[in-house]
Amino acid sequence: MKCKKCGKRAVTSLRAYRLSLCGDCYLDFYRRLVERSINKYKILKKEEKILLAVSGGKDSSAMASVLSDLGFEFEMLYIDLGIGDYSKESKEKVEELSRILSAKLNVVELKEYGFTIPQVRGRVCSICGNAKRYIMNRFARENGFEVVATGHTAEDIASFYLKNIAGNQQAFAEKLLPRIEPFDAKVVAKARPLFEISEKENMLYTIIKGIPFKSGECPYAPKPEWKEIVYDIELRKPGFTKNFVRGLLNRDRKPMETRYCSICGEISSGEVCSFCKIRMRFSSQSKGF
Ligand code: SF4
Ligand code: ZN
Repeated sequence: MKCKKCGKRAVTSLRAYRLSLCGDCYLDFYRRLVERSINKYKILKKEEKILLAVSGGKDSSAMASVLSDLGFEFEMLYIDLGIGDYSKESKEKVEELSRILSAKLNVVELKEYGFTIPQVRGRVCSICGNAKRYIMNRFARENGFEVVATGHTAEDIASFYLKNIAGNQQAFAEKLLPRIEPFDAKVVAKARPLFEISEKENMLYTIIKGIPFKSGECPYAPKPEWKEIVYDIELRKPGFTKNFVRGLLNRDRKPMETRYCSICGEISSGEVCSFCKIRMRFSSQSKGF
């Protein structure tokens, strides 16, 4: 199999594009894919103060590396969830990435807020997701960042959407956009530069480019049932996932209602925000209480 661009030996065959490429041509192809997407959906601007949320996994590592290649300047944020060796090894990968990219790495430990993920009983991922969103927004705002970028992929978006629609959580599904502008002064804009990029595309980029990332799942990761449904459809209908997430952009949206948490003052949907409710279950010796 030969590279369709330069004729060298191809290392990958992309079914959705009917394209075989060698390593160098693939890196070029991936960069242009991400750049086109960022421009088309106005996901990030070069003049903004950007914070990248990195986990040490392949997707956020690919995001950091490609944004650096495309000339974006940013700092990175790693949230240490206190999950034993998993958090320790992920942090090492992120430190290595920060050295390679010469990008400043900020680390926030969840334990500063009074608990760690292994102490949580029940609904671990939902609580963890809530904690990460809270810390990302607060850290970004308190440190003058204008936008926080996360490494969500097309498969993440499609599977969240299907799961939430199936569970009648329409409001949550509404937020699955490439960029969400702040609807209040306490909220920092959120960006998803890999909104229409697939996990396989990120994986190939990290491997061919030799970018450090932590392989292996978090020990609390649930069985990715909705993602497997998305992989399954993609296998039968190449190109499905990207077309699906692009289709999500053509919906009508309602404006958000703003309320503040009576404890910490952050944005909340009720009297007390869900992060403070979680913290109340743990010790009271933490930040903000
Ligand atoms: Fe948090 Fe692990 Fe669940 Fe991801 S899989 S949300 S890191 S607990
Ligand atoms: Zn709160």
